[in-house]
Amino acid sequence: MKDVSPERLYQLVKRSKRNTENVIKAAPIGICITSPSGHFEMVNPAYCEFYGYRQEEVLGQHFTLVVPESNRAILSALHDDFMQGNESQELRQEWDVVTRNGEFRTIIAEAARIEGEDGEPRKVTFIIDITQRKNLEERLKQVNERLDHLAHHDELTGLLNRRAGLQHLEEEIKRCERYGSPFSVAIYDLDNFKAVNDSYGHNTGDALLQQTTTLVSDELRDTDLHIRLGGEEFLVIMPGVNAEEASLAIERVRETMAQHTFTEHQLKMTLSSGIACYVEGSGTRLLDRADKAMYEAKQAGRNRVVIASSSM
Ligand code: GH3
Ligand code: MG
Ligand code: MG
Repeated sequence: MKDVSPERLYQLVKRSKRNTENVIKAAPIGICITSPSGHFEMVNPAYCEFYGYRQEEVLGQHFTLVVPESNRAILSALHDDFMQGNESQELRQEWDVVTRNGEFRTIIAEAARIEGEDGEPRKVTFIIDITQRKNLEERLKQVNERLDHLAHHDELTGLLNRRAGLQHLEEEIKRCERYGSPFSVAIYDLDNFKAVNDSYGHNTGDALLQQTTTLVSDELRDTDLHIRLGGEEFLVIMPGVNAEEASLAIERVRETMAQHTFTEHQLKMTLSSGIACYVEGSGTRLLDRADKAMYEAKQAGRNRVVIASSSM
């Protein structure tokens, strides 16, 4: 290899440095270099543009300038670890950052360690703005949660819908078969509800359905599941409760409802209910038994609670 003069060597090094600087300057992603103490030594135009600072406002500042208050301590500690070469974190990470005008954004940062002219380490950080993607993900999550809610709940009353209710019932039956814990169901139906629609219109009927179901939910235990089976017919799943206890609870609900008046028309409303307790092997017939008991309650004059006999 030919001898290279010191002058030529100096030129080569200078050219290489200039080329690197130009590449960094033109890079479409934000790049910064921080000192071992975490102060900015270099920021490229894309970095400045993203954070809304001028270069001279940033250089010499500590990098936590762009970090939200709550994350400053942890990020400073991570920076120290990184400089000492014992970073325990993934080098590619997602962070919330804050721009000059106080706007929060999300970035992916990836870092590399290089050696400075003084022989000390430096951290080069590359940042990619993923705020838009994050916002879209968040919106998508909210829409999915809403869809999930709609798939399992009844729109008018907000109660679990029939499909979700029957799923819960199956689970309760399985639990009962496995652990032998008792549970009961109550089916209830509003009495002469059709007359409300006929006399006051469908909107009043809807309001009455909303008000009665709220009243019933308030009377039930938190562990009870309240389900709209359809129309003005409802199911209550009562875990850990035998038929007598379930009957007492629904009797209390029945009384409360009978004493109440609903809607601006001060309407009276009552319910008829059938109760069935799970006994071994009766899972599939549980709703039938409760339904038959409810029919008996209707036949016997409405506004009452009937317990299904286990032979029903
Ligand atoms: P019974 O005491 O025998 O149960 O008499 P009922 O009038 O309550 O029973 P029926 O089954 O004859 O009538 C139920 C009515 O409930 C008929 C239907 O129009 C009304 N209905 C069902 N779903 C809704 C709803 O979402 N909103 C309103 N407003 N009415 C509804
Ligand atoms: Mg009815
Ligand atoms: Mg009905």
